[in-house]
Amino acid sequence: MAGKYPENFEQLIDMLKTLPGVGKRSAERMAFSIYKWDAEKTRKLGKIIAELPERVTKCPECANLAMDGNKCSICLDSKRDTSLVCVIEEASQIQNIENSGFFRGRYHILGGKITPLKGQEAHSLNTEILLKKAKEGEVKEVVLALSYDMEGQATAIYIAGILRETGVKVTRLAQGMPAGSDISYVDSATLAAAMSGRTGIGNID
Ligand SMILES: [Zn+2]
Repeated sequence: MAGKYPENFEQLIDMLKTLPGVGKRSAERMAFSIYKWDAEKTRKLGKIIAELPERVTKCPECANLAMDGNKCSICLDSKRDTSLVCVIEEASQIQNIENSGFFRGRYHILGGKITPLKGQEAHSLNTEILLKKAKEGEVKEVVLALSYDMEGQATAIYIAGILRETGVKVTRLAQGMPAGSDISYVDSATLAAAMSGRTGIGNID
């Protein structure tokens, strides 16, 4: 069946539909909204999106989003505590922890959690730099801010295991973290309480 919109417009809707939380109706509304923009604004959006893969790169230190191959804004901030590293699953979770206003260390992004059913095994996690920093003595404490579900638990045990030989203190957000919770959706106040009440990794069984 032929689409009811012109091909290019239909393609835009199809693309928008792939975004999280966007259904067909919302995608159509967005497409109409973009269509009404002046040409310059539309081209600007197109340019930003087209340049995204080259310009927005991974920070070589922590795998957070960065510009043009440089370090991210957090790793470049000399006022942050380099001896304290918060390990998270995805870069998108940083903002949530930052909003809690409680953490002044740096981050390390694993790029997922151990989820064998989805083909994410321990060895595919980004752990090399973290391990290197821990061995070199730069890092004194690693705070695991991983989801409170089975996969997050398995990942926490794995990370604690590989860091054990380095002698680095490994803690985990604890107080007030609801069971099964994903760090992405925990509110700032709960995160702040969990950060201040973090516990040793020995307590997580
Ligand atoms: Zn960084």
